[in-house]
Amino acid sequence: MYENINEELLDFLEQSPTCFHVIANIRKALKDAGYEELTEGRVWNLQEGGKYFAVRNESSVIAFRIPRKDFTGFMIAASHSDSPSFKIKTNPEIAREGYVKLNVERYGGMLMAPWFDRPLSAAGRIIVQEDGVFKTKLVNVDRDLLMIPNLAIHMDRTANEGHKYNAQTDMEPIIAQGEAGQFMKTIAEACGVKEEDILAHDLFLYARGRGTVWGINREFISAGHLDDLQCSFADLKAFIDSESTDSVPVLAVFDNEEVGSGTKQGANSTFLEDVLSRIGDGCGKSAEQMKAAAASSFMVSADNAHAVHPNYADKADPVNRPQMNKGIVIKYNANQKYTTDAVSAAVFTQICASAGIPVQDFTNRSDMPGGSTLGNISNSHISLNTVDIGLAQLAMHSPYETAGTKDTAYLAEAVRKFFSVSFRDEGQGMWSLK
Ligand code: ZN
Repeated sequence: MYENINEELLDFLEQSPTCFHVIANIRKALKDAGYEELTEGRVWNLQEGGKYFAVRNESSVIAFRIPRKDFTGFMIAASHSDSPSFKIKTNPEIAREGYVKLNVERYGGMLMAPWFDRPLSAAGRIIVQEDGVFKTKLVNVDRDLLMIPNLAIHMDRTANEGHKYNAQTDMEPIIAQGEAGQFMKTIAEACGVKEEDILAHDLFLYARGRGTVWGINREFISAGHLDDLQCSFADLKAFIDSESTDSVPVLAVFDNEEVGSGTKQGANSTFLEDVLSRIGDGCGKSAEQMKAAAASSFMVSADNAHAVHPNYADKADPVNRPQMNKGIVIKYNANQKYTTDAVSAAVFTQICASAGIPVQDFTNRSDMPGGSTLGNISNSHISLNTVDIGLAQLAMHSPYETAGTKDTAYLAEAVRKFFSVSFRDEGQGMWSLK
């Protein structure tokens, strides 16, 4: 079903230089598939059989269908829209030595070295005031615009012995020669407004160039933002392609995972519980019925995982060593940074098995803390049976990451299957899939 998914993923990535573009592209895909956009600031009127979505901050989205008003629970697939990058500060220009540089700061925990010596550009959103309303406009200066050149080896003979990068002084990208005052003009031109009409902006750097499929047998796919748009894209396809059941299928894509999720639109916000409770209200569910529905719900928290690296093989757990193209990675952590437990692992593994999709396991080395993700953070607001999964990749948080060409389709198939079943809490330590 998903033969062309790698090219489609590369298109999606190319058109999604920032989280705002990600959500705009998901919005378009949902509208094209007949979904109606709801505004959080208005009263919702939900119909049986309806297909809906809501966007928060133009950087997070939750979509759902209501197959029947007496639904049994929610089947939720979650991922994140943001990736580590450099955010362009307000008053962005620095004029030095005949150059104009941009004043940037880190967004999230990125590998800094691969940002050097590659063409970069700027994208994001600006706010203007038109006809008495504040309006978002997306902007992408869609050309090679900036570069962070390395210092020549002749001027730092220890450069290959490891360099500690200073985010302020080492990472300022060059944008021009001459005088300051050209950058915001370029942004204004790119989105067709006057410079003086730009009231504020959220702009980020991104690495230029379309991603690529490579390897002798075309095993690998490389591009920026695979973490986590590989999962978001697979979830989106699966959600749109899935058939309705007794449960409400929910697609959630949250912003700000890379900075701890603690924003109004992040996984550590009320966005998911707000949407689920409004679905309950719209379907005439009592508070008691919604509690029962939550117990009979399941969440797949999808965020990319580390493949074993052949040059750094000792960084992986001695036994649980995921490989690209070997299937969906189930992530475990004793301290519950990952929410996976015996129940959620068993349920998700069975769903994958019934779809013919391979799974593999990830744990951190016991002497390495590892990262965190969406599942446990979201569970602090609405507690659901949750499994943390991802697709195996290398070079996570580089502006150019590498993953497997089979895995995106694996996730799309597995999540499509996930949306076609309903999870039930049967009591007495028993659960079922129907
Ligand atoms: Zn991630």
